[in-house]
Amino acid sequence: MTQIYLDNAATTPLLDEVIDAMVVVMKNNFGNPSSTHTLGQEAKTILEETRRKIAHELHVSPAEIIYTSCGTEANNLILKSAVEDLKIERIITTELEHKCVAESVENLKNSKNVEVIYLNVNEKGDVDIEQLQQLLKSSDKKTLVSLMHANNEIGNLLDLDKVANICKENGAYFHSDTVQTMAHLPLDFSKTLVDFASCSAHKFHGPKGAGFAFIRKSTHLKAQIHGGTQERNVRAGTENVVGIAGLGKAFEIATDNLEKFSSHIQEIKDYAIQRLSEKIPGILFNGRSAERDKSLYTVLSVSLPSQNPLIGLQLDMKGIAVSQGSACSSGAAKPSSVLSKILSEETQQNTTPLRISFSHKTTKEEIDALVNALAEILRL
Ligand code: PLP
Repeated sequence: MTQIYLDNAATTPLLDEVIDAMVVVMKNNFGNPSSTHTLGQEAKTILEETRRKIAHELHVSPAEIIYTSCGTEANNLILKSAVEDLKIERIITTELEHKCVAESVENLKNSKNVEVIYLNVNEKGDVDIEQLQQLLKSSDKKTLVSLMHANNEIGNLLDLDKVANICKENGAYFHSDTVQTMAHLPLDFSKTLVDFASCSAHKFHGPKGAGFAFIRKSTHLKAQIHGGTQERNVRAGTENVVGIAGLGKAFEIATDNLEKFSSHIQEIKDYAIQRLSEKIPGILFNGRSAERDKSLYTVLSVSLPSQNPLIGLQLDMKGIAVSQGSACSSGAAKPSSVLSKILSEETQQNTTPLRISFSHKTTKEEIDALVNALAEILRL
């Protein structure tokens, strides 16, 4: 059975070039980058060359790129260190953030007594930016705003420049979880004035276990993991040299081919929207999922017009991997935390959510196979 992979927002397959780059490092560069001898310094060079390339692409200083084990760690580091080191009293965020942000914020509320305000979101998943502005204007509490760039479930995009400017004007710090957009959208942090951002290599055909936090130098954040002086004292622990080499190669390929890959993927997404609309009457597109420019081109979130908690399994049995965006408990489909915040009770009870996410390797034939499989399962 041929495997059709349409769950690229969860993770992406490694590219051959990335594997090759990592194998070279695995074979030749086992040195500890903190060692002063040649083997160590060769490993260190890999870290620093990669850091320099990433920083160049993002228009920041290499010292502002701190390697982490994943996006979750980058977001934890940023949020927890910001609260401790910048004496943050209030966090403004939404209920649509990734679990690693939501749980970190909850933890800070309980352990550090930080006030947490969740911005209003409408049924399309739009964040109330005017409310943010009002909140920032009406209080001089030390505030950290944490809003994701693209939602991993529905793909909604935030206007980063607009929010960054509002935060700057009002003296608030701004963290954006950019895990879904890093290396997928052009980001220039010399113009887009976020203070903190995050990255995970496995979202753009790099390895799992490698990512980074962008931490603006002026904020002087300190470590959450203590030990050696690695990563300029901001993240102790011997760096994952092989993983970082893979991160660097994947980042380079993704950014060098950004226009080519994104236009191909957008075409695939447009095709999927068209074919699904034709073949499945009553299908709904969640959030801003089906709107160009308001949604990340890699993600399409739909609600199928009947309840079927087993649909992910049925597709899997046909060799098609998607994300159901729901957990099956006691036989009833439980919508994801994001969809349960934006969809009406009625929609949640009468539909089945599905997240379809694409890569530059996705073909129209694969979309046809998905649409036909869905029509068969739904007996259309
Ligand atoms: N933030 C977002 C928006 C994500 O989609 C993910 C992964 O699903 C993460 C953070 C966590 O990244 P990682 O899997 O590298 O921990």
